[in-house]
Amino acid sequence: MSAPPPFWEAKSLSELTRAEWESLCDGCGRCCLHKLEDADTGEIHYTNVACKLLDLTSCACSNYERRWDSVPDCIQLSPRVIGDLAWLPSTCAYRLLREGRPLPAWHPLVSGDPDSVHRAGISVRGRAVRENRTRRLERHIVSWPA
Ligand code: SF4
Ligand code: SF4
Repeated sequence: MSAPPPFWEAKSLSELTRAEWESLCDGCGRCCLHKLEDADTGEIHYTNVACKLLDLTSCACSNYERRWDSVPDCIQLSPRVIGDLAWLPSTCAYRLLREGRPLPAWHPLVSGDPDSVHRAGISVRGRAVRENRTRRLERHIVSWPA
């Protein structure tokens, strides 16, 4: 008899519990990089400049529960808004599942190891800079987070 499918395959995004939803985040930190929107085309460009609350080593938000106190425009991801966020990285678990794609082998839920996202070179560890280190975001545009 085969094992039952994991929750992210057995349920739709809207059926997940809060804990299941949160556990889908791979901890890459890519969505916490500043982005620039081209005023003419609407195209979104990623930079390697991190939100001031992002811990550049763990790649996690340093004050997740109270993040809106200091970053009021931080977006709460939910099944309702995921489809509207075209800028989510292609590696993002929420985007992958919404598009009907599987979680990759390096995802911590698959590997069982929270460090696998860093070892695979998916996270921003070692690649992001603090926002107080730069004044010109346009000089920090990078293609890898998208
Ligand atoms: S890009 Fe997606 S998986 Fe990565 S930190 Fe953001 S929400 Fe989590
Ligand atoms: S406030 Fe936290 S979760 Fe929101 S973008 Fe900044 S680091 Fe990421």
